[in-house]
Amino acid sequence: MHKITLIPGDGIGPEVTRAARRCVEATAVKVEWEEVNAGQAALDASGSILPDNVLASIRKNKVALKGPIVTPIGEGFRSVNVAIRQVLDLYACLRPAKYYPGVKSRYKDVDLVVIRENSEDLYAGIEFEEGRPETKKLIAEIEKATLKKIRADSGISIKPISKYASERIVRFAFEYAIKNNRKKVTVVHKANIMKFTDGLFLKAARKVAEDYSGKIAFEEAIVDNMCMQLVQKPHNFDCLVLPNLYGDIISDLSAGLVGGLGVAPGANIGENIAVFEAVHGAAPKYKGMNKANPTAMILSASLMLKHIQEDKAAQRLESAVAQVISEGRDVTYDLKPAPNDPTAVGTKEMADAIIRRLK
Ligand code: NAD
Repeated sequence: MHKITLIPGDGIGPEVTRAARRCVEATAVKVEWEEVNAGQAALDASGSILPDNVLASIRKNKVALKGPIVTPIGEGFRSVNVAIRQVLDLYACLRPAKYYPGVKSRYKDVDLVVIRENSEDLYAGIEFEEGRPETKKLIAEIEKATLKKIRADSGISIKPISKYASERIVRFAFEYAIKNNRKKVTVVHKANIMKFTDGLFLKAARKVAEDYSGKIAFEEAIVDNMCMQLVQKPHNFDCLVLPNLYGDIISDLSAGLVGGLGVAPGANIGENIAVFEAVHGAAPKYKGMNKANPTAMILSASLMLKHIQEDKAAQRLESAVAQVISEGRDVTYDLKPAPNDPTAVGTKEMADAIIRRLK
């Protein structure tokens, strides 16, 4: 029996997590769900958008399936999602971008995995607001130390990149490649400009890559060039490993290569804890309408099954999703040739069709 934390989340979150939960149960893997609320539901019930019991439950169970969460301005967090990743040190963000026949997409032969460092870089949340005394002090210090001029009316965001976190994420990427029969890891950077941050990331990657030489191919790409190559020949890539900001951007780009947010799963993984969630957000305009595509969440649940070593169930679930999409009948509006197609089914009905294939 696996004990798993379930966070329904906001907007379309409860609908797509319910669909994913039912699909997991249909694989016959024994799961005891511990449902806890974060986001608006938690704020309404307990006055906190991220109550302590949510983190406690994830820490205890080590695995969570999470719906998207909206962070209202003024709730003390920039983002609840980023807070969960940082507090639990979920340092690796895994986002597979795989083409499934039947999805409307420009490319048909894409199967790549974006592995994004999740704990530092410009997302560390270290920022100095324009005009504040501490910002002026910092500008003065920097000018003194570097002899470079910063405009007095600047805001400043700090980009910390450590050797420790860089080596850790690159090692994660190579281990992922080995475990998942992948052939190549590409490190993506801008080390030609940011020599002491991206340069350090690249150096760490080269060092870790030596340990895998002969097993997994290694290559390097500058992030701007990577964007162009991904658009021109995405099938040339396998696993990409990137610092936080580039990882964020490239993972959305990659989701776009294979049909968009409705089909893009994700995972945030730490040393002992992992939280699985779709790349998409809460899509509030579709809340409660039984309209959202549950695929991204169900594929995230398949990644979760693999993580808890239920490989066969994970594979069966992914195949069931692929079958339903390729048949094109019991699919949501976004997977139909036109968005207003009257034959589109709802979130629940698409999950029902996937479940029928698991029986
Ligand atoms: P979004 O992903 O919620 O929605 C963008 C658009 O994509 C939607 O309007 C919809 O047209 C489409 N879409 C998204 N998911 C879909 C699905 N499953 N099926 C069909 N269509 C889908 O992005 P947003 O509008 O930028 O964000 C809305 C809220 O979600 C924001 O408050 C944001 O902070 C939050 N958010 C949360 C997470 C998370 O919890 N990890 C991630 C991203 C955004």
